[in-house]
Amino acid sequence: MTAVKRIALLGATGSIGKSTVDVVLRHRERLRITCVAGYRNAAELAATAKLCGATLAVIAQASAYRDLQRELSGSGIEARSGDDEVAALCSREDVDIVLNALVGAAGVKPTLTALDCRKPVALANKETLVCAGALVMARAKAQGTPILPVDSEHSALFQALVGETRSQVKRLLLTASGGPFRDLPLDDFAKITPESALQHPTWKMGPKVTIDSSTLVNKGLELIEAKWLFDAEPNELDVVIHPQSIVHSLVEYCDGSMKAQLSNPDMKLPIQYALSYPERWQSEWVPNDLSAIGTLTFQEVDREKFPAVGLALQAMAGSSGMAAVFNAADEVAVPAFLQREIGYRAIPRLIETALDEFDGATISNVAELFELDREVREWSKGFLPIFRSE
Ligand code: MG
Repeated sequence: MTAVKRIALLGATGSIGKSTVDVVLRHRERLRITCVAGYRNAAELAATAKLCGATLAVIAQASAYRDLQRELSGSGIEARSGDDEVAALCSREDVDIVLNALVGAAGVKPTLTALDCRKPVALANKETLVCAGALVMARAKAQGTPILPVDSEHSALFQALVGETRSQVKRLLLTASGGPFRDLPLDDFAKITPESALQHPTWKMGPKVTIDSSTLVNKGLELIEAKWLFDAEPNELDVVIHPQSIVHSLVEYCDGSMKAQLSNPDMKLPIQYALSYPERWQSEWVPNDLSAIGTLTFQEVDREKFPAVGLALQAMAGSSGMAAVFNAADEVAVPAFLQREIGYRAIPRLIETALDEFDGATISNVAELFELDREVREWSKGFLPIFRSE
C-alpha cells in the first residue's frame, strides 16, 4: 500500500483547480488535498475545501476573508487570507506536493517557497517559468526538487522524453490548435469580437487563456516555459498547428525519430500524470478512438496572422527581463480587449511595442521581477488609448 500523497492546491476555484479536484476524488486511496487557495471567490473556495476535506483554505484577497470565514464556520476548516499565507501553504508539514494553478505573477512566490522546502511542484502557473524561469530553475536544481509540468503540451514533451537522453534531442515541437481564427483571412482580424474569441474549438478553459490561445500568445508563453523546463535553446523549439488537439506535442531525436503523446483533449490526464509520476494510474477520462477521430492534420503557423509566436521567440532570445515584459503587456492587453477598450490586433501590437520600449531589461531577483512587471503594466495602460481605434 503506497502512502497517500498530500496536495496543496493553489488556484482551486479555476478550471485546472476543478479538474484537479476531480482527479483527486477519483483516486482517494492515493491522493488527498489538505490545503486549498484561491484568489477571491470565497463561496466557491469554501465549497471546494469542504468537498476535498481540506483542513485549511486561504483566500488571496484580504477583502474576501470575512466571507470565507462565514462560509467555513462550523466546518472545522481554518480560514486565512493574503498572498503571504498562500505562499506559506507550500511549506506546511501536511503537504507533499504543491499543485500551482494560480493565474498571473502571483504564482511565482509560492513556487519558490515550495522548492525551498523541497516540495515538488506540479506546475500549471505559466508566469512562474515565463517571468522567473532562470530563478526558479536554479532553485529547483539547487534543492534537487522536481517541477512537473501540468500544461498538456509540456506534459506531452515530458512523457515523450521519459527514458531518453537529453543530448540526443534535436527539437521540441509544440502543437497548437490554431484557435478559432486559424482559417480566418487576415483582413477580417480587425473585426474579431470578445464573444467570437472566447469560443475555443477544442479546449474548455478560463477567459484569459482562451484569448491567449486565439492570438497564439499562449503558445508563445509555452515556448518560453519549454525553454526552461527542458533546458532548450530557441533554435531547438518550434510550433506546428494541429487543429484536432490530439497530438499534444512531439520530441524529435537526432536519428530522425519523433515521439509524440496522443489522447483526446482533457486536462485531467496531464494533471493525473503530474500527480502519479513516475507511475501511470488507471483512468476513464479519455475515450481514445482513433477511427472516430479519423484525420490528424498539421500545418505551419501563419506568422503574419499570429505575430505572437515570433515575438515570444524574440523575447526568449533577449535579455533576462524580456519574457516578463511580453507577459505583462499581454496581461494588460487581454482585459482591455475583453472590455472593448482596444481591438483584437492591438493585443500583439501592444506586446511588440512594449518589447521595443523595454528592450534590454534585466532581472536578477524576484523583487526586480515585480518592479519590472509593475513598470510594464503601468506603461502599457498609459499606451492603451493609442490603440483604441485598432
Ligand atoms: Mg497548453
